[in-house]
Amino acid sequence: MITNNLDRQTTIPVPIVLGIIAVCLLPLILNLIGVDFGSTSRPLPPGQTESIIIDDLFYRLSGAFTHTILEWSAFCAAIFIVFLSFAHYRVVKDITTPVIGVALFCAGCMDAFHTLAADRLIEAVADNTNLIPFTWAISRVFNALIMIIGVSLFLLRPRSELKAGLPFVLGVSTVFGLLAFVIIDYCASHPNLPQTMYPDSLITRPWDVGPLVLFIFAGLYIFPKFYKQHPSIFAYSLVVCAIPEIAIELHMAFGSTALFDNHFNIAHFLKIIAYLVPLIGLTLDYVQTYLSKEETSRESERLKNRFQQIFDNSPNALLIVNDKGEVKLANSMAISMFGYEDDELNSMPIEGLMPRSYRTHHPAQREAYMHEMNPRAMGAGRDLYGLRKNGLEFPVEIGLNPIESESLVLATITDVTERKHYEEHLRQQKEELERSNEQLEQFAYVASHDLQEPLRMVSSYTQLLAKRYKSQLDQDANDYIEYAVDGAVRMQTLIQDLLKFSRLNTHVQEFISVDTNDLYDYAIDNLAVAIDETGTVVTKDQLPFVQGDAGQLRQLFQNLIGNAVKYHDPEKMNQIHVSAEQLDGQWQFCIEDNGIGIEPKYYERIFVIFKRLHGKSEYKGTGIGLAICKKIIEKHHGKIWVESEFGQGTRFYFTLMNAES
Ligand code: ADP
Repeated sequence: MITNNLDRQTTIPVPIVLGIIAVCLLPLILNLIGVDFGSTSRPLPPGQTESIIIDDLFYRLSGAFTHTILEWSAFCAAIFIVFLSFAHYRVVKDITTPVIGVALFCAGCMDAFHTLAADRLIEAVADNTNLIPFTWAISRVFNALIMIIGVSLFLLRPRSELKAGLPFVLGVSTVFGLLAFVIIDYCASHPNLPQTMYPDSLITRPWDVGPLVLFIFAGLYIFPKFYKQHPSIFAYSLVVCAIPEIAIELHMAFGSTALFDNHFNIAHFLKIIAYLVPLIGLTLDYVQTYLSKEETSRESERLKNRFQQIFDNSPNALLIVNDKGEVKLANSMAISMFGYEDDELNSMPIEGLMPRSYRTHHPAQREAYMHEMNPRAMGAGRDLYGLRKNGLEFPVEIGLNPIESESLVLATITDVTERKHYEEHLRQQKEELERSNEQLEQFAYVASHDLQEPLRMVSSYTQLLAKRYKSQLDQDANDYIEYAVDGAVRMQTLIQDLLKFSRLNTHVQEFISVDTNDLYDYAIDNLAVAIDETGTVVTKDQLPFVQGDAGQLRQLFQNLIGNAVKYHDPEKMNQIHVSAEQLDGQWQFCIEDNGIGIEPKYYERIFVIFKRLHGKSEYKGTGIGLAICKKIIEKHHGKIWVESEFGQGTRFYFTLMNAES
């Protein structure tokens, strides 16, 4: 039975666990090398109560606290983004997400630096009134640039090159990280930072105009283009996040005139939104991907169950065999066909299911098949046998179907014992039929041949009798003699026709190229008297050369044209036309008359030997002519058939091979 080998991961990967341990140990190690994380409070100047001063300080620092909370929330969102983007990459293997995730994270790092420096938690030499606006401005420029660069990386490269994978992601992350570090280092180590605030002018913070323009450009051109090329919820969220980004810059560039003022705080709040939008996009994308994967896995589970049912209930025996020739899976039909119990076939070498004589060569053949791996029937041209557990052999037919992805082969085995019996029975019957047919033909030939001589005697002596004693006998005797002569003549014709029919088997000539115009002329010559008597007009098209036995084909033309003359309608002028056209590489002939016609129910019957549609008094004949035609055409690998309109005329069609073929 099939088992699910897709084990769910239930542990956190070892490097992550090691990282957590390292983070836990890090403070202790830093303590050991002298770093102190304690926030020591200094003693108060005399006369001041501690609570009043602390309250006062809290009031004074409320702007800084708000700033920190807002910035830090934005930074936390950036951290979530980068983690989620890598998780998304792990599932979808799409490198756009982690690269943009890293870009957003680096922008977040700049924001974190800006906050930490403002809170004096990072040593920076410039004073706060310069440091906060400058680091803000520089982190915004960086934010806009890094987003545009991150997204543009994918716009410039064709989709096929995006398979680069993790090394590309890590490379880009390193470059972004270094860039952020250089900027942070510059800000921290320069005491005189450029002025970024001009409270009295229209544009209060000109440095924010740069990111404003960049975000407008990104929101209108870069992000939508990226979305078009890589449609996803995440890409869409980038387009949307341009809205808060632009709003931030408008507040800062045209509104904020002092640290922690209204526009300043609104801009900082909007920054959280600007990070949350891609975070939401990424989360939705992740959820959607996860759900669709789940749906796919449910679908594959359904398919697997369906396959299992089909496999188990198949009327054929099915075996799945691995590249070592071991049975990995057998359905119930296979188990019962080979006479084993439930699990006995599992891991059994496939050679155990075949007669001893096959076993030596089979491993090599199996090996060769594993290299070629295409679906085919096994043992072409020879009889195959299976071996039951009880040692009995039985005839089988085997189809092989490779399951390439897993180096397995599905063998379909059919027990053909009954069919073989039936085939054998049919073969014997056919042989018997052929034998008796041969004997019959032989008999007909011998009989008609040997009967000719005595019949000729009967016929000639009765004719002699009639001639010599006609005047001496009475009328009755004369009539009797006449009947006898007539009977003998008819019997002679019959026997001659029968002999012609038998000779078709015994006198076989080699096929040569035959001009059918000559066959036509020959028939017309032979039938000249009848044609004359009936006033028939016979015409023909230019007829082709065909491949065949000239003698037999002459007979064919004569019989068919002869019939067309014979079965004419006395009320009309009899017309016969012979034509031929090339169809499917063969010549199709048509002998058409306007005679009495044939009813459709007799179309088949008239080709059977001795079958006639008229009495001898109406039309003379033996009923052998068309049977001879049919046999001749069969010997020439063609077809003969009739089409007719009763009372209007008849068309006999037959096909013959081209002379070249
Ligand atoms: P026969 O002519 O000696 O009777 P055939 O085998 O040649 O024997 O023909 C079998 C029967 O098919 C004929 O008895 C006749 O009824 C019918 N038949 C053959 N050719 C034609 C034809 N051209 N038009 C009408 N009937 C035909």
